Amino acid sequence: MAEEHVLICVAWPYANGPLHLGHVAGCYLPPDIQARFERALGNRVLMVSGSDEHGTPITVSAEQNNITPQEVVDTYHALNSKALLDLGCSWQPQVDVRGVEYGGALFNRTSDPRHKKLVQENFLSLHEAGLFETKTMKQYYEQNADGTGRFLPDRYVEGTCPACGADGARGDQCDACGATYEAEELQNPVSKMNPGAQIEIRDTDHLFYRLDLFQEALEQHASSQQSNWKSNVRAMTKQWLDMGLRPRAVTRDLSWGIPLPLNGDEWEGKCVYVWFEAVQGYSTCAQIWAESVADAAGHPDGTEAWKNWWNVSKDGTSPRHLYFLGKDNIPFHTVIWPSLIMGLNHARNGKTADDKVELPRPGDLALETNVPAMEYLMLAGGQFSKSRKHAVWLPSFLERFDPDTLRYYLSINMPENHDTDFNWPDFVEKINSELIAAYGNFVHRVLTLGHRLPSGESGPLVGVESKERTKAHRDKLTELHQSITTSLQRHRYKEALRTVMNASQYGNQMLQAATPWKYLKDDTPSEERTQSLSDLAFGWRIARFLAITTQPFMPFSAQRLWSSLGLEGEVSAQSWHSAIEWDLQMTWNESAPTPLFKRLELEEILASEQALAEPTDVAADDPGHGVKGGKKKQNNKGDTNMPEAPEGTTYLEFDTFMKVDLRVGKITSVEDHPNADRLYVVTIDDGSDKGRTICAGLKAFYDPEQMIGKSVVFVANLKPRPLRGVVSEGMMLAADDGNDNVRLITIDGDMTTGAQVR
Ligand SMILES: [Zn+2]
Repeated sequence: MAEEHVLICVAWPYANGPLHLGHVAGCYLPPDIQARFERALGNRVLMVSGSDEHGTPITVSAEQNNITPQEVVDTYHALNSKALLDLGCSWQPQVDVRGVEYGGALFNRTSDPRHKKLVQENFLSLHEAGLFETKTMKQYYEQNADGTGRFLPDRYVEGTCPACGADGARGDQCDACGATYEAEELQNPVSKMNPGAQIEIRDTDHLFYRLDLFQEALEQHASSQQSNWKSNVRAMTKQWLDMGLRPRAVTRDLSWGIPLPLNGDEWEGKCVYVWFEAVQGYSTCAQIWAESVADAAGHPDGTEAWKNWWNVSKDGTSPRHLYFLGKDNIPFHTVIWPSLIMGLNHARNGKTADDKVELPRPGDLALETNVPAMEYLMLAGGQFSKSRKHAVWLPSFLERFDPDTLRYYLSINMPENHDTDFNWPDFVEKINSELIAAYGNFVHRVLTLGHRLPSGESGPLVGVESKERTKAHRDKLTELHQSITTSLQRHRYKEALRTVMNASQYGNQMLQAATPWKYLKDDTPSEERTQSLSDLAFGWRIARFLAITTQPFMPFSAQRLWSSLGLEGEVSAQSWHSAIEWDLQMTWNESAPTPLFKRLELEEILASEQALAEPTDVAADDPGHGVKGGKKKQNNKGDTNMPEAPEGTTYLEFDTFMKVDLRVGKITSVEDHPNADRLYVVTIDDGSDKGRTICAGLKAFYDPEQMIGKSVVFVANLKPRPLRGVVSEGMMLAADDGNDNVRLITIDGDMTTGAQVR
């Protein structure tokens, strides 16, 4: 296990807009936590990613804004790389501080000439091995009056949907009804950029990658990964394989992309399809890192250094490959990319389309070890969306908040097994009442109490600790450390961070019981005083434990804590296991301690958000969210004469409360929502003849059988609203402890359906 080679592959962000919090929770934070953890364990970690800079969304953006595609990608590559660094993602330094043999990181871009060259070489080698086939397709062509013209990719054509008749349907699919169709079926087609131009359908030749040749090997690979992969990864991969793999186009009629390395008129004006080249970034980036970084830094294998992280070694062991991505990208990484990797191995081993495809052997490129894909982080119940501008943007967030508060919130709320929700009241609550109340306050207390003790040469706590008395504490912390480690090895970030927070909670309770503040002035020797101050001294050790174990999650505050404990150097360079070395010499920092975090004020944030965002009433916008976070939605605008409420409470007028019509209903059926993963469509006997339908975000918490037959309380006079195609007529009440426990409010005993709740 020691010093394993670990390749952390991070999904390539598309350079067509700023990153939003949905991207961060799904793709960019988890790999950074993992990379930091693996480094602390002593492993050799190489982390690779970069901007995905080709494809039609970028050319469309460029044409609409009258700038070049290069300007679009330059802007967003710069913006997103900076935002990721500001978030504390460890893309710098590019060489591991322990030395280049331990790896490093490269955040590259697909417009890198070296990437283009490597992709062209791979393209040719697959082509020569016969793994492509040529097909003639029909494609729209725009003919200008002067005789010039161009082929129009799907996004460049708009028309009337042949299925539902909606206007604004794209060349191959309709966003209104979801139908997909052949280009020639679209009605009234026009060129989106040039509506006056005459357009026609022409034949065009394209190359297709023979995915079908890899079906068997991929099935074999998928079945060997059953115990590793999460259930969403298993299910989506199976779905793809069950459908049967068909050849997939690797070229298209577009000039913005990597030119085809082929001669011949038929390939004029075509480029490599963006999916085919961007995904190869995982290997080209490692190779480019070796050539431009590792070699210069003196890696013993020079420009070949990347093979340590990519090739199956002679004894058959593979480097560990971890891919981090959102759920929409799963089949791409468990089906398509592995088939390209195996294709490249196949071609390099001199095989052709007639030879059987085999899984990687020594010397070959390795397949993925795990794909800990995330579900979605939703924004107040709705999906984050770049195009609909329903998002909280990372750069603007980082201008206003401590990056560690975001890292904390997204980690404790990570969409590991089901979609989770970002909303501002919950963000403020978790930062103030968990992060600050449990962790921030504990370490601040230890430091301020220590500062009030008389200090010797090496600080006030040295010599105060009694090993015998703190044994139980040491055992407890050692046990927590083991469990944090196991959770991180299993990619359970939420669970790991919760256990870290339990350690600070333990520290708080220990101090509370020890009451060291009683003995700061009274130095009369006594059994109680010795015991109490020994616990305070152990508080320093817990704080050091917390600096090391929070480091993967919150690197900035971990470093601040490290320094305020009087410890030298970088906390990120400490070994993970040194968190539980209990015999280290205590150090002390003479400067007065400052709190690790600043309390957040919800009112202030909401006011500034309102100024930044579109005016949508996020709280009332989604019943799925309504069930989960109902308690956080009191809104008292307009109630100006209220008596002052205790902190954390906002009073509600009695009349306002009475307007809510609560009634008893009985659940008669529960079905999956056809278009929303988190939602059930629940039918309730509400006492009326026809009953009612309610969409509820309870899928993560109940199986349908557990719900059917329950008598519940629902809001009867909520305005009915369509929710992704299903009209929801009300909302069921549920309790939510903010810790992934959500339970329905049920009725004690028999009650007629439709009865009022008061
Ligand atoms: Zn349609």
